[in-house]
Amino acid sequence: MIEIRNLTKVYGGTTAVDGLTVTVRPGRVTGFLGPNGAGKSTTMRAVVGLDRPTSGEVQVAGRRYADHPAPLREVGALLDANAAHPGRSALAHLRALAVTNGIGRARVDEVVDMVGLRQVADRRVGGFSLGMAQRLGIAAALLGDPAVILLDEPVNGLDPDGIRWIRGLLRGLAAEGRTVFVSSHLMSEMALTADHLVILGRGRLIADVSMEEMTASA
Ligand code: ADP
Ligand code: ADP
Repeated sequence: MIEIRNLTKVYGGTTAVDGLTVTVRPGRVTGFLGPNGAGKSTTMRAVVGLDRPTSGEVQVAGRRYADHPAPLREVGALLDANAAHPGRSALAHLRALAVTNGIGRARVDEVVDMVGLRQVADRRVGGFSLGMAQRLGIAAALLGDPAVILLDEPVNGLDPDGIRWIRGLLRGLAAEGRTVFVSSHLMSEMALTADHLVILGRGRLIADVSMEEMTASA
């Protein structure tokens, strides 16, 4: 579970997130919908402890990560801020993350296969397509087998097969009882993936509704 309470983040003169309060529950896919610049990435960075809120607080499974990144065993996140170093191989990136987070090597191999990167695992990440980089980010997010998973615009750069694959993956993770929080600027994408929708506009909560309510009112 993710509990966001009155979260505000100001960058210079820009209020990126403005008093956001929302709870993201386990066992379902919660879509985080809003146009570019709405504050989705900023919110997600605050949740995983990569960014300190200006005010308000975030708890993930009852813990706060305001001053340090959440451990991969607790929270996995696909975020631009977590991108792999371009000079490293995919395998080296995942192995380094595994070592710093006390995760065994066997799990690295498992996630490489899970995301379909086995063939390119020894290649430099700098040469990866956006879709391959997304798959690597997802592998990193899943590495610690976390109960809470955040993915920022995961379908970006993926082909239709990749998009279908992600949908199935997210559905499966939610069915296992995990908290799955996934952002997109596309309602059409959310309609196919999410059970629940949190809608953000200019840093503020616009709606917090089940997909059923959403489609019934449309
Ligand atoms: P979204 O993920 O919904 O596209 P963001 O959280 O990336 O939105 O951005 C929200 C607002 O905060 C935008 O106006 C963006 O320009 C601004 N912003 C985000 N990160 C920074 C930063 N590191 N420094 C300054 N402004 C930022
Ligand atoms: P290193 O340079 O030691 O390999 P990174 O700079 O890759 O470490 O990661 C720094 C921190 O960010 C780590 O504490 C790690 O837990 C966190 N981190 C990196 N990638 C992810 C990810 N995909 N999901 C969540 N946290 C991550």
